[in-house]
Amino acid sequence: MKTIIKKITKNQNNTDIIKQAGDILKSGGLVAFPTETVYGLGADALNEQAAKKIYAAKGRPSDNPLIVHITNMEALDKITEYIPQEARIVADAYWPGPLTMIFRKSEIVPMGTTGGLNTVAVRMPSHEIAREVIDAGGGYIAAPSANTSGRPSPTAAEHVQEDLSGRIDMIVDGGAVEIGVESTILDMTVTPPMILRPGAITREMLNEVIGEVAVDKTLMNPNSKKAPKAPGMKYRHYAPKADLTVIEGELDRVADEINRLAQEKLSEGYKVGIIGTEETVGKYPFGDVKCIGTREDEATIASHLFGILREFDNDGVEYIYSESFDSEGIGSAIMNRLLKAAGQHIIRLGNK
Ligand code: AMP
Ligand code: MG
Repeated sequence: MKTIIKKITKNQNNTDIIKQAGDILKSGGLVAFPTETVYGLGADALNEQAAKKIYAAKGRPSDNPLIVHITNMEALDKITEYIPQEARIVADAYWPGPLTMIFRKSEIVPMGTTGGLNTVAVRMPSHEIAREVIDAGGGYIAAPSANTSGRPSPTAAEHVQEDLSGRIDMIVDGGAVEIGVESTILDMTVTPPMILRPGAITREMLNEVIGEVAVDKTLMNPNSKKAPKAPGMKYRHYAPKADLTVIEGELDRVADEINRLAQEKLSEGYKVGIIGTEETVGKYPFGDVKCIGTREDEATIASHLFGILREFDNDGVEYIYSESFDSEGIGSAIMNRLLKAAGQHIIRLGNK
């Protein structure tokens, strides 16, 4: 199929583009669109056949459930069996925004959308274009990240094009996204609520409004034999083609070790990439060095992570060495994605 690509520009009437996207969704087609986290690949969540097309286009395992995107609380009522009071408090505080909550599903949500589960993941995004597309498409849009399964999530329309051109009906190009890592997932079916995936709504932010929240232990201990509670978290994800290693420790020593490893691979004739920060890029004389953002504001790091991994793919880099980041706040989402992309390969330099 030929993929229609339409660019949305501010200060211009985009009604026709939104209507076209909505019509495709309502007739069971696939439309990729920007959200504040990453680009989503949308389909009508209440139409099992449409939702199934998402799995085919992405090459996504069928037991990996989709997140249903809505724009208002009435829609939440319709697709859930029960909304706990704490979920209303969290929604008041952080919806619309980069947070997904899990509820017991109502009958209208097909098993094809939930990967056979009796629960449904729901998010209310804040991105203006996302909201317009969701409403135009009927109000219940299943939308996982719009990448080929296993590849880094798309943070720009070009990334969606790279992976899915010819496999989906339409891409709504709204420019680069803001946050750059997927939503926090919070399971509201357990007490206390449990974080199944870290994101921009941090544990600390949730503590502020509902007190104690648990964190899925397998997130901290990736070598655990137990399966993560979000089925999607068990798969190798976000992975660049290159072999990625994260180096953790005092920054000067990290730079020395990265230079040593990089030189070793360069002398063997490999293409080497290095992920540094504004504070450290000057320390790397060799290789394809990319600045991911500043340590002063880790949100800048989150927003560039997936794009940089894709750039290394396009440059044909074979080994990537990355600095490590704090795991407080948004840092926990960054480290979760980075370590997954690295297949958990981390070198910890001891203190000397
Ligand atoms: P993506 O949309 O590609 O960012 O992936 C959605 C994530 O949400 C995956 O990790 C899923 O496993 C998780 N998820 C979706 N629905 C549920 C659910 N009902 N229970 C637990 N995790 C879910
Ligand atoms: Mg994804």
